[in-house]
Amino acid sequence: MGKYVIAGNWKMNKTPAEAKVLIDEIKPLVADATCDVIVGVPFVDLHVALEATAGTNIGVAAQNCHWAESGAFTAEISAGMLKEMGVGYVIIGHSERRQYFGETDQTVNKRVRAALDAGLTVILCVGEYLEQREQGVTAEVCAMQTKIALCGVSAEEMSRIIVAYEPVWAIGTGRTATAEQANEVCAQIRDVVKGLYNADVAAALTVQYGGSMNAGNAAELLAQSDVDGGLIGGASLKAADFAVIVKAAK
Ligand code: PEP
Repeated sequence: MGKYVIAGNWKMNKTPAEAKVLIDEIKPLVADATCDVIVGVPFVDLHVALEATAGTNIGVAAQNCHWAESGAFTAEISAGMLKEMGVGYVIIGHSERRQYFGETDQTVNKRVRAALDAGLTVILCVGEYLEQREQGVTAEVCAMQTKIALCGVSAEEMSRIIVAYEPVWAIGTGRTATAEQANEVCAQIRDVVKGLYNADVAAALTVQYGGSMNAGNAAELLAQSDVDGGLIGGASLKAADFAVIVKAAK
């Protein structure tokens, strides 16, 4: 299976000064981590986060990027801008972007393409709404989102793709998928990637689970055979809780 990656998604939380405090708290707690550790911070915190994590085992992610290199796209940030700053990762297709900001599978694909072209590693989020789960189309929805997002991505480039399975009904709700549900869909996503590429690419892919993962439930979720890590929202804002999740990823 893919290597374990634990990534925090801070969403629209923490000013630059607060970001430095939180990263300084996290650093010693995860210094001996056996998995990759990433903090996904607001754009305005990137500079401080890069400085605070320099020389440590913590990577820095942005939470989105535009697909164009430059141009008349007021308030947008290009992948190249992130790369030049020293950012290594970008979260793309988060359900909050899809729900509130008109993100579609097609724009997710364009952003993935731009991020890869700029040399970034992508954390690609896919996941179903509760209604879709109840209608029995979870596998189809996640397969469609994954396939469209990866259009035009080569097998070699897949080493810079992490997929985060994030059931929308579990994000920020305190309602977690059961370990079995998480594992089932992560395995289905891996299977989709196997179909698109080959067994080696699928086996090497990191598939994270995200959705109310916390210090209490992380160990069980991360012990599943097809869950290679987590994308953590709320619990990533508390250094001690985040560190417990990182330690559970082995
Ligand atoms: C997320 O924002 O990706 C997420 C999983 O949030 P939470 O852990 O708060 O559900």
